[in-house]
Amino acid sequence: MHTLLISSQLSSLRQHAPAFFIIGAVVLICCLCGILSRPVTFLAYLWPANAVLLGLFLRFKHLNTLGGWLGAFSGYMLADLLTGNFLLLTFVLSLANLINVIISLFLIQCWKLNYRNYNQGFTFLYLFTICALGGCLASALFAIATVPYLSDTFMSTQRLGVDFGMWWAGEIVNCITILPIILFFPTLTEIGKYFKNIKLNQFHLTKLLPLIAIVISVTFTHIFTGPGALLYPLAALIWAALSYPIFIVAVINSIVCLVTYHSLTYFYLSDSSAAYLSTTISVRIGLCMLGFAPLVLCIITSNRRELYKKVLYLANHDSLTNTINRRHLFEKGERYLSEAKSHSVSLVMLDLDHFKRMNDQYGHHTGDLVLKHFSQLVEDNIRANELFARVGGEEFLILMMNTTLQETQAIAERIRNKIELTPMQLPQGDLLFITTSIGITHQSLPTELSLQNIINLADRALYRSKALGRNQITIAS
Ligand code: GH3
Ligand code: MG
Ligand code: MG
Repeated sequence: MHTLLISSQLSSLRQHAPAFFIIGAVVLICCLCGILSRPVTFLAYLWPANAVLLGLFLRFKHLNTLGGWLGAFSGYMLADLLTGNFLLLTFVLSLANLINVIISLFLIQCWKLNYRNYNQGFTFLYLFTICALGGCLASALFAIATVPYLSDTFMSTQRLGVDFGMWWAGEIVNCITILPIILFFPTLTEIGKYFKNIKLNQFHLTKLLPLIAIVISVTFTHIFTGPGALLYPLAALIWAALSYPIFIVAVINSIVCLVTYHSLTYFYLSDSSAAYLSTTISVRIGLCMLGFAPLVLCIITSNRRELYKKVLYLANHDSLTNTINRRHLFEKGERYLSEAKSHSVSLVMLDLDHFKRMNDQYGHHTGDLVLKHFSQLVEDNIRANELFARVGGEEFLILMMNTTLQETQAIAERIRNKIELTPMQLPQGDLLFITTSIGITHQSLPTELSLQNIINLADRALYRSKALGRNQITIAS
């Protein structure tokens, strides 16, 4: 009985240990970064721990356990104790930090907000509002209700309003600069996909223009100093939001906020310390808005881009077989024919044999499955740069550029053979054998003939194959 109890306690300890150590170490490092950067004036607001902790708990649910929370508490405590704070103050500050994350997570759960749906337009807006008006606010209220009443402390009961403003505004800037980086940090697959895309679309130096604009506008904040500097990077940030993926925008935002804050606090100091503090609070809130707008814009733009891609795909493809449709074939085919680099065009027209009979015998749904089976087999036997389109009910067309007649004939024969030898398995288990008749035409370019004329030639050859008994290839004379 005793050993059973001990072993169950050991196993629960083992279960919580990884979250405890991971979260503990991350929070400790983040707090040390915050504490050690304080002497650098413009980094004084930098306190990444809370936003990082919230981001980790949102992203990695398995860390959001008792072990994780204990790790976080230990991390906060240890960092302050190591850097010389006394115990009671350290305890209260750790609670204030934890309250931020607890309240934010609680409200996010109440609203059933899934950060992964950030791509659904305004999810990030709600997420940020919850953090700013929930966790950050609660944390600031708790801090001014406790910290000023301890001895040997940095807050004063004489200026509760300003201390509250500094804490809250600092927290929301941390939230807008750090949280998006954690939430949008790409996975390895996403990084791979991004670089593959760049390779495919070829990298143009013009892609760097928004970044250059940001560097210039941020440099300006250090030349023409003053309150207006807060807005200098706005146009360049919007340009970046329209050009780069969300993670890069999040990183750029962070850096821009830091550097602009430096300009505003370093060069634009007011004479009295009260004015200095209120200026700092207003600058922090302003920075928050500056960083927030590009993120929402970037998310909405990338949604639209994705949507446009989907709609374009649907407009250009046949929904049953996923081959390109007649309209898109004509659009692309005519462009290919007029291109100077094309010296010949080959058309292979295919029509399933006795397809109506299959429909009648097995039903329309099986007919549809045959069409899918057929187009997959053809797709597997042509090259990616060859256009394969469904141009009618069970009629398909392959358009190849710069392929000799012999090569075209060989490809067509390979396809005809493959179709004849690869039966489709019916749901009841039987095998359904199909065949296809093919007509080919080959034209040297340039030609007087239109694409439709060339298709007509292939079509006539196809009907010759049908007349000769089907399952064969005819070359247009
Ligand atoms: P042939 O060997 O001479 O080509 O005879 P066939 O029966 O294949 O040709 P026919 O033109 O007489 O019939 C084509 C059939 O294709 C008629 C039509 O109902 C069917 N069909 C057209 N589109 C679809 C579709 O999307 N799904 C299904 N299941 N059948 C379709
Ligand atoms: Mg047919
Ligand atoms: Mg037909």
